[in-house]
Amino acid sequence: MANYSGPVCRFCRREGAKLYLKGERCYTPKCAIERRAFAPGMHGQARKRKTSDYGVQLRAKQKARRIYGLLEKQFRNYFDQASNEPGVTGVNLLRHLELRLDNVVYRIGLGSSRKQARQLVTHRHFEVNGKLVNVPSFQLKPGDEVKVKGSDGVFDLALDASKVRPVPSWLSFQTDEKSAKILARPERHEMEPGVEEQLIVEFYSR
Ligand code: SF4
Repeated sequence: MANYSGPVCRFCRREGAKLYLKGERCYTPKCAIERRAFAPGMHGQARKRKTSDYGVQLRAKQKARRIYGLLEKQFRNYFDQASNEPGVTGVNLLRHLELRLDNVVYRIGLGSSRKQARQLVTHRHFEVNGKLVNVPSFQLKPGDEVKVKGSDGVFDLALDASKVRPVPSWLSFQTDEKSAKILARPERHEMEPGVEEQLIVEFYSR
């Protein structure tokens, strides 16, 4: 699946919030939104006009899509899947995103950003339940075990860089073995707090 590879700090500036897309840099004064806290582009500093309901919903959807690093088609597919499942569509959507293999690698601190985590997965560094998996979108479920295949210094660096992020309670992580287990399906309060899933549902239900 295609992947966006252009500049990303502009996304944070557009959404007016830190989306933590660049790993360690996001936690330093070099963070672009700390230095230029206005939208990118020629009219970024112009006085803001009132945003329509559609605009608010669109921004909520774009923000979530960018946090998880997905293209529109991938994100829409997750929404369609979530809306066909029992339960609250917005929470189902977030759960699908959280249970992606690349997101779990990021959550346990083996990638300093989701982008780096995705790259580590495609470079064949992980096994799921003892089998090599190099598909970032691989959906994990409770009971699955994710383990680093072999040992690599790259993970030590990533672990150091991500100490600021605690491992969520739906995951257990053994640092020495570099292996994680999915303990349960994440509940809403254990998932990305900055996402307004109800607005995303409204956006796609227009
Ligand atoms: Fe966003 Fe990180 Fe860039 Fe700051 S450094 S603007 S948090 S991607």
